[in-house]
Amino acid sequence: MAKSKSDELVFLPLGGSNEIGMNFNLYGYGPAHDRKWIVVDLGVTFGDQTTPGVEVILPDPTYIEKYADRILGIVLTHAHEDHIGAVAHLWPRLKAPVYATPFTAFILREKLREADLLDEVTITEVPLGGTIELGPFKLELITLTHSIPEPNGLAIKTPLGTILHTGDWKIDPDPLLGDVTDAAAIRKLGDEGVLAMVCDSTNVFVDGHAGSEADVRVAMTKLIGGLKGKVAVACFASNVARMDSVIRAAEANGRRVCLAGRSMHRMAAAAKSVGLMTDIQPFLDDTQAKHLSENAVLYLCTGSQGEPRAALARIADGTHPHVKLGAGDSVVFSSRVIPGNEIPIRNLQNKLTERGVRLYTERDHPGIHVSGHPCRDELAEMYSWARPEIAVPTHGERRHLMEHAAFARDLQVPQQVTPRNGDMVRLAPGRAEIIDEVHAGRLFVDAGVLTPENGDALRERRHAAFNGIVAVSVALDGRNRIVSGPQVRALGLPADDETAMDDILDELADEAEAALKRLKGEQLELDDDVEMAITRGVKKACQRIWGRRPVVETTVLRI
Ligand SMILES: [Zn+2]
Ligand SMILES: [Zn+2]
Repeated sequence: MAKSKSDELVFLPLGGSNEIGMNFNLYGYGPAHDRKWIVVDLGVTFGDQTTPGVEVILPDPTYIEKYADRILGIVLTHAHEDHIGAVAHLWPRLKAPVYATPFTAFILREKLREADLLDEVTITEVPLGGTIELGPFKLELITLTHSIPEPNGLAIKTPLGTILHTGDWKIDPDPLLGDVTDAAAIRKLGDEGVLAMVCDSTNVFVDGHAGSEADVRVAMTKLIGGLKGKVAVACFASNVARMDSVIRAAEANGRRVCLAGRSMHRMAAAAKSVGLMTDIQPFLDDTQAKHLSENAVLYLCTGSQGEPRAALARIADGTHPHVKLGAGDSVVFSSRVIPGNEIPIRNLQNKLTERGVRLYTERDHPGIHVSGHPCRDELAEMYSWARPEIAVPTHGERRHLMEHAAFARDLQVPQQVTPRNGDMVRLAPGRAEIIDEVHAGRLFVDAGVLTPENGDALRERRHAAFNGIVAVSVALDGRNRIVSGPQVRALGLPADDETAMDDILDELADEAEAALKRLKGEQLELDDDVEMAITRGVKKACQRIWGRRPVVETTVLRI
């Protein structure tokens, strides 16, 4: 395709830049008024203590939704939640065809089936190393190594230059499942000329190499060999190579594996669908596991991050229907603590040790986990292969992106640019620069409803959680005289005892009545005005009594 004078090549992250999670990257080509777009990855991030009741958070697609008819395709690099988790939520607003390799497509189909979208979304399965042509974008998939089957980098060729979008990667000389990183393909791209490399920043502060899955297998086999009693191993189900290692370590030590947790079963099925994990013994079902000697079973569990409903949390609580662990048993965490999950993991580990379970973590047993992201030596190697003109760090918080940019500068990469979500970067023509700032943000999945970040519902819930709730009701007759009430109830607010609480509620009722009596004539006609006046009076009284301002909800009834 020929380029015209007004054509530009832009990169626009709407998620995943200045955060680890919720990756949503866009590339645009064409004149500013008529860009064609491709989307690379559409992932989620997860809620925490600051978002009570909200577990899943999505990137806000409002900006690109306006140009949905110009999105040529949604290309997924790999099947981690932070890369594909938002497709089922946001596809109805973008409606573009989806491209993925077979394992990723399998996982995505499951999600779309649950969302009742399977029949609507066109998914094109691309083989590993395959190509995709989308208007001015010619894409080549480059096989990498990571912590899930089929991680792909993308060579995105356009008339204005080639971008290497790495996705998540590491250089694992022996990943156990799948091929090694296709260094030759990246070197060849480098020889042809790479304009920009948009690259994973997760481990930019870590020296050396991430380490190999093969070494984890050895360490795991040795560790499990020394354990007596029941053994449970927690890891991410999506790390199929790790699952496979644990299974083989178990088999080498005379144990058979029983899966605990829905995503373990789901990932095992996905792995088998692409020909992985086919030469292992069948998994034990729960009843079989119960009838074997405890030295002959290993439970492979979800919940390494302290997720409250995962198998390991239920085992720790003693509420798991099949798996009971106690004194003499062991739990191995073949995982790391993801920042933000420190507290739930610590609580989980305390509950397990309370039961007498002995814990094994990567902190005291180095080697039972390796990261899936590139450390500094690997980044340096990647830069030496691709030799980009522009470094665009992504998949990191601000501190990761800035350190990555400095690292690239040290490696003599001529230009670095570090956009935040919503910053539109012109990669060509001319020097790379941020040319526009578009709307970017987060959507919360709140009880199945997509709500704006910090919308009213969550704001009120948070306020109520910290300050409590006071409900006032009063009934008025046709001449605005009190027929019943005001009645006051308080939720989540303290008093020395019941009598003290009754006194407080009486005081608040008096306050409500006084506020009502201050209203005259017309002011009493509108329910909204009456409710607002009472609410204001009661809030003031609460401030006096408790030194805080609970959510006050007043209802006026007309009789
Ligand atoms: Zn990721
Ligand atoms: Zn990943």
